[in-house]
Amino acid sequence: MTTTAQTERIMMLPSDQDSSGRTFGAEELAYVKEVLESGTLTTTKGKFGKMLEQKFAEKFEAKYAYACTSGSAAIHIAVAAINPNPGDEIVTTSITDMGALAPLMYRGAVPVFAEVDTKTLNVTAKTIEKALSPRTKAIIVTHLFGNPCEMDDIMALAKERNLPVIEDSAQTFLAKVNGKYAGTIGDIGCFSLQQGKHMTTGEGGMVVTNDDALARHMFLYINKAWGYGDANPDHYFMALNYRVSELQAAAALGQLEKLEECVQNRIRTADILTEMLQGIDGIETPKIAENASHVYWKYCLTVDDSKIEGGSVGMANLLKVKNIFSAPRYIVKPAFMCQVFQEKKTLGDSQFPFNLARSEAIDYRMENYPDTAKALHDVLVLPWNEKYTNAHVEYIAENVRAAVETLRK
Ligand SMILES: *Cc1c(COP(=O)(O)O)cnc(C)c1O
Repeated sequence: MTTTAQTERIMMLPSDQDSSGRTFGAEELAYVKEVLESGTLTTTKGKFGKMLEQKFAEKFEAKYAYACTSGSAAIHIAVAAINPNPGDEIVTTSITDMGALAPLMYRGAVPVFAEVDTKTLNVTAKTIEKALSPRTKAIIVTHLFGNPCEMDDIMALAKERNLPVIEDSAQTFLAKVNGKYAGTIGDIGCFSLQQGKHMTTGEGGMVVTNDDALARHMFLYINKAWGYGDANPDHYFMALNYRVSELQAAAALGQLEKLEECVQNRIRTADILTEMLQGIDGIETPKIAENASHVYWKYCLTVDDSKIEGGSVGMANLLKVKNIFSAPRYIVKPAFMCQVFQEKKTLGDSQFPFNLARSEAIDYRMENYPDTAKALHDVLVLPWNEKYTNAHVEYIAENVRAAVETLRK
């Protein structure tokens, strides 16, 4: 039996997990070859680590950028620079990666989870404000999926309360808010170079800042707090080795040179999808602030299950058959529902730093977070990639539309 119906067609989408959706080529190879031939693989002696940091800072229009081993390391370095006292609170988001949370506990800080906007899944000034207390030491905002938080309001609140802001920009490279890049608006920005991010070296991270003192502290924290270049260097405080190697830096430099094109391609194709999905009752395309750009790490739809049978999960099941591997409900449960928070499994039996916390600050229960529950329930995260062509986007649009029609109540 043959069929010519368009919807019977199965297409392979480029994937960020292999070369089909990644951009490594002659540029990275040439840099990596140069490193190997030089015989110098440590960034303390080689030139690629320094070049990467300088070019990254230039690209993001920040004063300082430092490379480190992961996005989790970047958060650890940022929190260390804020230097909380044990038991201090850091307000963060209920929807984030564990790599953005474990470093808080390692530094003795108690994560206090702010609610999220049900459409963007991002924290807002309003939700952060409700989570503040006299013990708040800092705010971490996470720009989810490539869509920046509403930074004007958040920075105004932070200024009023005299609190530093760390931006977790692991999913958001080169998004702009009022002409400034996400990650450079707060006090410190953190990026991840993990396999699935906009630019990658498999694992890796970057921190950026415009502040001299924070930059100095972060540089030291990456380097066991050894005062490289000082007249009388010493290990000034407790810190780890979070350096990347020259090999990683070389590959990252090649990736950085392709970042603008990667982001522009993602925006161009995402805009086409948004256009093609207008006016479909029961699903909503991404909500983006007027003064901001979305750089589409992923493309999120919200699905109304009062109109569509099975909601986001129903949609995902139909799309999967078409080789479109979406994530309904994203991380499914908020971070605070994970064992580490529910059972306070940290250092030995101490429950540190939760043992120092106000009980209201660590009341990690679903019923305290109705908007987080709603946001996760409705969201359908579509994979996105810089190598999508118009044909890929039309294929996705066609199948989203078909799934909605099949499941319409
Ligand atoms: C990927 C990611 C991290 C952690 O980065 P790793 O490089 O995997 O350690 C942190 N926060 C967010 C929002 C992420 O998406």
